[in-house]
This record gives sequence, structure tokens and C-alpha cells, in this order.
Amino acid sequence: MAEHGHPPKHHYDASMLSVEEALERILSYMPELDAEEKPILDAMGQVLADDVVSDLDIPPLDNSAMDGYALQATSVETASEGSPVVLRVTGVIAAGQLPEISVGPGEAVRIMTGAPVPEGADTVVPFEETDELERRASGQGLSEIAIKVAAKTGRDVRVAGQDVRRGEVVLKRGAVLRPSEVGVIASLGRNTVRVIRKPVVGILSTGDELLEPGANFGTGGIYDSNSYSVAALVRRYGGIPHMLGIARDNLDSVNAKLREGLESDILITSAGVSKGDYDMVKDVLTQHGEIDFWSVRMKPAKPLAFGVLTAPDGRKVPHLGLPGNPVSAMVAFEQFGRAAIYKMLGKTGIEKPQVRAILDEPIHNTDGRRVFARAVVTKRDGEYRARLTGEQGSNLLTSMARANGLAICPEDLSRKEAGEVVDVQMLDWPEEVF
Ligand code: AMP
Ligand code: MG
Repeated sequence: MAEHGHPPKHHYDASMLSVEEALERILSYMPELDAEEKPILDAMGQVLADDVVSDLDIPPLDNSAMDGYALQATSVETASEGSPVVLRVTGVIAAGQLPEISVGPGEAVRIMTGAPVPEGADTVVPFEETDELERRASGQGLSEIAIKVAAKTGRDVRVAGQDVRRGEVVLKRGAVLRPSEVGVIASLGRNTVRVIRKPVVGILSTGDELLEPGANFGTGGIYDSNSYSVAALVRRYGGIPHMLGIARDNLDSVNAKLREGLESDILITSAGVSKGDYDMVKDVLTQHGEIDFWSVRMKPAKPLAFGVLTAPDGRKVPHLGLPGNPVSAMVAFEQFGRAAIYKMLGKTGIEKPQVRAILDEPIHNTDGRRVFARAVVTKRDGEYRARLTGEQGSNLLTSMARANGLAICPEDLSRKEAGEVVDVQMLDWPEEVF
């Protein structure tokens, strides 16, 4: 075994693609999709297709930031707790009302938060700095009010256009809609928005042994988990899964499913890409376009297929062929499928979030590929720690369910030792960890 930090002694297979090379090739075939107009709440997570320009000032009018009294600052220049200035109260304005009165020297108007500041007034003094409570308690009316503070001009007045100016670009094309963007668009008075549409992702599993979940168990069969784990990932990352079901390992069956698959923006299949298997898949797919079978320098998920199919209407449909083993399918999707969806959605920052964590146990790398080890990241004493989920067989899907990240051992290291720092690609960002 090579020492830690030294290159492995096995043969370095230059015919394999690096993860980055495979990703770059795949992304070069992913178009940004066209735009659609939809209700703002339904557009969460999608990318703005146009700049959003306001045709309003927000706030539209100068308005009060507090419940209090609108007045002229010069009227209360000499006011203090010990010697308040008494003003004549000429009216009341609630939020949503347009003031009909104006405020002159020596006058005040009782005003609620959000109500427009009347003409003449330049300042609001909150109730707490007047004698309103004492007046109410002693049964005096509110025809006059004593102001106990020399307020600065402009105090507690929210100026028209402070948040947004009419004609201003408020949100830029390319921005991802989060709750705050949805709120901003609503604040401009709109309930729909133009965003890049979501890709429809055809999902097809292949294999004679596969059973549809929900069907009775039959000996010799295994339930098709890939369709569901991949569809769930597609949905998580903003695509629309189109379930094509299971194709059997024969030409007619794959052909029949493919026809429906060609209606999608991208087709994702699983299985049938490892050596010995791919002749059949290759035969079918080459009838509809081109396909390449790759070995990617990663573990799990070395075998990968990628091609471009042509739909009956001439549209090009990229095809990503994931390996069949359930963990391999998910890990390959995280590296390639997710980025493909993001590119079609018009997203730019497509790297998976990573943390640096201290390894609790070693990761072994026996054949010079980049290892993505299923790991559990926790925060202890202010540091991230990563432990592995045990056996790392690519068929062990429950170990994926236990993990919240993939700890990476680079392809040029034969091992990462316990106590060393590793990059961990986070599968989730659970709040209890961060
Ligand atoms: P293959 O690429 O067809 O050789 O499949 C590799 C392994 O993955 C085999 O053990 C298959 O039974 C398994 N497998 C293939 N497709 C699925 C699927 N959709 N769900 C669960 N396991 C699968
Ligand atoms: Mg198979």
C-alpha cells in the first residue's frame, strides 16, 4: 500500500475521463430553456428571464414609521421632558387614508404606522414621547398634545421611493427567486413573473429483474428504486420528472419507452451501461442518435453513457445514462444530472456546496479514482467532523439514506487518514448541523 500523500502505485488509466471532463462535455450539450410566465409563488427556485423594472416608487408616499404625531420639527425645537411643548391636534390619519388636512406651526396630527404624512409635517414623534397616556388616564381629551422631545427633522418619516425608485431595475435577469424576491415582485404590484421554464426530465429504468414498487414481490426480482431516487433528485433540483417506468432488456421494449422519452427535455436512463451490457442499449440508442460510453475516474459510478437523441420533430434530446447500482445512480446524478438541470434552468452557480471536515476514520482509494465516500457530517466543538456510513458497496442504498454528505478522497491519493481534513460535498444542509 502506498504511503499516505503518495500517488498510488497502480496503473493510471488515461482513457478514463475526469469528473470535470465528463461534466464539461455534458454541459456543452445543455441548452438554457425558454421563458414562461407564471404566478410568482409557483416560480420559487426558478431564474428570472428578464430584468424586473419598477413602475412605482416604494413606498409610494412619505409615511409614518411609528404610531405618533406628525408635526413640524421647528414647532418642538425647545421641547424637553421637563418642559414639553403643547401642540393643537387637528385630526387623525390611519394607514390607507389620504390626509385631507395639512399641518402648520404649532399643530400636530395623530398618525398611525404606514399612514401618509400630511402636507406641512416633516417629522413624527411616537406616542411614548408625548403625554398621551397621562391625558387618557386623567380623562382629558386629545385636542391638544404635549411633546416631550426636540425631534430632529425627518424623524420616523419613511420617505417615498426609499426602498425602490420608479424606473429602477429592482431584480436582475438571472436572479434565482427566493422568498425575498417573491415578496419584492409582489411589492411592485405583480402576481406573475417571467422565468426560465423547468426542464421535463424523462426517467427510464432498464432491466429484466426490475419490479414496479407497489407490485407483488416475485422471487428473482428487485424493486426499481432508481426511477424514484432519481425522480426525487430531479424534483429537488427544480426539474419536472416524467416517469417512463421500466424497459426490459430487449430492443422492442427499450424502443417503445424511448419514443415517449423523446418528448422530454432530457432523458435519464439507469443501468445497461457497464461492459457486457451496453451492446443492446447502444443498438437502440444509435437508431435515434449518438451515444458514447465513458469510464469516469470516480468511485462509485465509473460507467456512464452520454448521447444526443433526435426526436421525430428534429429536436435534440440529450441523454444521460446512469449506472444501475442504486448508489452509483444517485452519486452520478449528483455530479452530472443536477448540473445539467441547473444549466437548463439558467442557473450559474452550479457547484455543490462543500465543507471541510476532519475525518474520524480513513478513506481508502485502491484504484486511482476520485472516491465519494458516504459520510455523516456533524459539528463538534465548532469543527465539522466526518465519519463514514460503514460498508461502501454501490448497491447499499440505505447507507445513502444514512449519509448527509460525500467525503472526497482525490484520485491521486491512495488514502486519507483519520484526523486529516477532507472536502465533503453536502447532500443536505440540515439546520441542526450548521
Ligand atoms: P446493470 O447496469 O444492468 O448491470 O445493473 C447493475 C446493478 O444495478 C444490478 O445489480 C441491477 O439489478 C441493479 N439495478 C439496475 N437498475 C436498477 C433499478 N432501477 N433499481 C434498483 N437496482 C437496479
Ligand atoms: Mg441490467
